[in-house]
Amino acid sequence: MPTKSLRTLLKGFVLLAALPAIASAHPGHDGDHGFGWDFSGGFAHPLNGWDHLLAMVAVGLWAAQLGGRARWLVPAAFVSVMTLGAVLGHGGMSIAGTEQAIAASVLVLGLLVATAARLPLAAGMALTGIFALFHGLAHGAEIPATSAGLSYGLGFVLTTALLHAAGLGLGQLTARKSTVIPQAAGAAIALVGVAMLAC
Ligand SMILES: [Zn+2]
Repeated sequence: MPTKSLRTLLKGFVLLAALPAIASAHPGHDGDHGFGWDFSGGFAHPLNGWDHLLAMVAVGLWAAQLGGRARWLVPAAFVSVMTLGAVLGHGGMSIAGTEQAIAASVLVLGLLVATAARLPLAAGMALTGIFALFHGLAHGAEIPATSAGLSYGLGFVLTTALLHAAGLGLGQLTARKSTVIPQAAGAAIALVGVAMLAC
């Protein structure tokens, strides 16, 4: 095994050791998580919840692997359907097992990156969109119908787009060195997803 892959593997193990802490870093979605219902609260939330953060970065990494138009269409599908999910959730729609679906999104998106899965663009957008719906639903119901609530939503959407961009950039940069690097990151993300589902 070349030293480079060995080092990547080692990094994976370090992350594995941190799994329990990460998996419990965002238990449930109740209230505003100590942040205010304003722009900064919404902006901070995906950065504090590993479930959102990892899924959103994974979407960017996967988009980089897919290449071409998928690089922006797949993240765009996530952002738009997540927004739709928040609106639906606000209107009273709720689906049982939303938390589990979010954890599953971390696992599946991680696996897609780990295997550099090549899906047709429409299928990739649909799959990403389904997961995004749950990320939106998880918060739609609790966001207050005020201008502050709207600002919270805008902050949340902006961070989501930034995390997609970060994943995309990281995926493209690291793939120049070795396509194994983003795949190893995907495997680590999938492992966190497993831990989240088990918690
Ligand atoms: Zn959340």
